[in-house]
Amino acid sequence: FDQRDGEIWFDGKFVPWADAKVHVLTHGLHYASAVFEGERAYNGRIFKSSEHTERLHASAEVLGFEIPYSSEVINAAKEELLKRMNLVDAYLRPIAWRGSEMMGVSAQHNTIHLAIAAWEWPSYFKPEERLKGIRLDMAKYRRPDPVTAPFKSKAAGLYMICTLSKHEAERKGYADALMLDWRGQVAEATGANVFFVKDGKIHTPNPDCFLNGITRRTVIDLAKARGFEVIERVIMPEELDGFEQCFLTGTAAEVTPVSEIGPHNFTVGEITKTLMLDYDALVRADPAGLKAAE
Ligand code: PMP
Repeated sequence: FDQRDGEIWFDGKFVPWADAKVHVLTHGLHYASAVFEGERAYNGRIFKSSEHTERLHASAEVLGFEIPYSSEVINAAKEELLKRMNLVDAYLRPIAWRGSEMMGVSAQHNTIHLAIAAWEWPSYFKPEERLKGIRLDMAKYRRPDPVTAPFKSKAAGLYMICTLSKHEAERKGYADALMLDWRGQVAEATGANVFFVKDGKIHTPNPDCFLNGITRRTVIDLAKARGFEVIERVIMPEELDGFEQCFLTGTAAEVTPVSEIGPHNFTVGEITKTLMLDYDALVRADPAGLKAAE
């Protein structure tokens, strides 16, 4: 991935892709003092770009550092990067980290760096593929409680258990894993939030120890606009059998139907399909067209 054509925005400048390097004694590499974002551009427009930038700043603040670039500069850098890379449907990855001046747990005065990469991410909607639903394993690792880890930050360190769980799931032939939290309640997948449907109502766990995703909040709004009831509540794994539908939400996942979690099976029903299509229409919507329709 490090040898490609194109450019990466790195500490305020555009540098050739292959030259966007850090030193091996980078604090962010040793102690995970890094925060990042995952964003998508559809038809050349970054979906909820400002919201992602705000979350990036907020994530850094939770880890006790300040990104030395304003939201305006970051938002403009993302737009400029897409133009220079000639990207229309893309994934964007901003990442901020503590640099290499001091090597030790403490690194109060290390420089804070910011890089933004973007690459092509075709967003062809292949309903036949996605409508089959994906299969989820039950993860062995649990989401830590809020006094153990700063869950409101999209912090690199929090992804250790996600990568472990996803790798284990893939080894067993699953697409992803469902993670419980430290109390044993249903939490989320390794990089996406989870929803269930039963008797025409939508149920999703309270985001009290995991990321309240931008897509999660968007899909809740879309569901409410359709008149569906959305219930945020404690969900226990014993309840999985009683749900008829299940889907994941996330910037990368969009709305992805789930057909199976361990021994529990789900159908890809009307509510899931409706929200998939509504989300797809929203991310691709031309803001000018939306305004005209209001
Ligand atoms: N949970 C985790 C662990 C994630 O990595 C993501 C992806 N950022 C999400 C949830 C969904 O967040 P969003 O909808 O903002 O992409």
